[in-house]
Amino acid sequence: MLGKQVHEAEEGGADYIHIDIMDGQFVPALTFGPAIVKSIRSYTSIPFDIHMMVYRPERYISELADAGADMLSIHVESTVHLHRTINQIKEAGMKAGVAINPSTPISTIEEVLKDVNLVLIMTVNPGYGGQSFITNMVSKIQRIRTLLDTIGSDSELEVDGGINTTTAKEVVKAGADVLVAGSAIYNNTNSVKESISSIRKTYNR
Ligand code: ZN
Repeated sequence: MLGKQVHEAEEGGADYIHIDIMDGQFVPALTFGPAIVKSIRSYTSIPFDIHMMVYRPERYISELADAGADMLSIHVESTVHLHRTINQIKEAGMKAGVAINPSTPISTIEEVLKDVNLVLIMTVNPGYGGQSFITNMVSKIQRIRTLLDTIGSDSELEVDGGINTTTAKEVVKAGADVLVAGSAIYNNTNSVKESISSIRKTYNR
């Protein structure tokens, strides 16, 4: 099932496979860990973008590198040693990302912006699929975009939560480079390919 969805995303033209790992503590839901990541790695050659919604994610870095993760994002709210953990991710051969919840101020990630390859802005409270985009987050995307541009960072700016054909255009205009879509792509109305292309059409990319 998961392997099929990964394959459909590749066929549909996705740039990355975004995988949410949830521990039932940092967020209420519980998903899977490195073993499942490893088991779906062979279904595609496109990069795995792993989003850790897990307390103390530093515990799983080497396992996820071995499982075939290409990018690993950790939440600023999930570890005491953010800078060290980011370095450990890069030392393990992966790109490192920092993720930030809707209510967390931008200042909490400012000191690591130069160290990361990716900034992941949550536009819903993490933990469940199918939630609505929090509209106040557009201004947060713009402010982080400005900070990244100011320091000359080439980090990607990724937006996760409530992305669909209505919100995509707005977040790209605000400065997002990477959009995560779940419910908008895996639905019963259109194929994954059709859904990806209808989101892309909204911002002409
Ligand atoms: Zn995610």
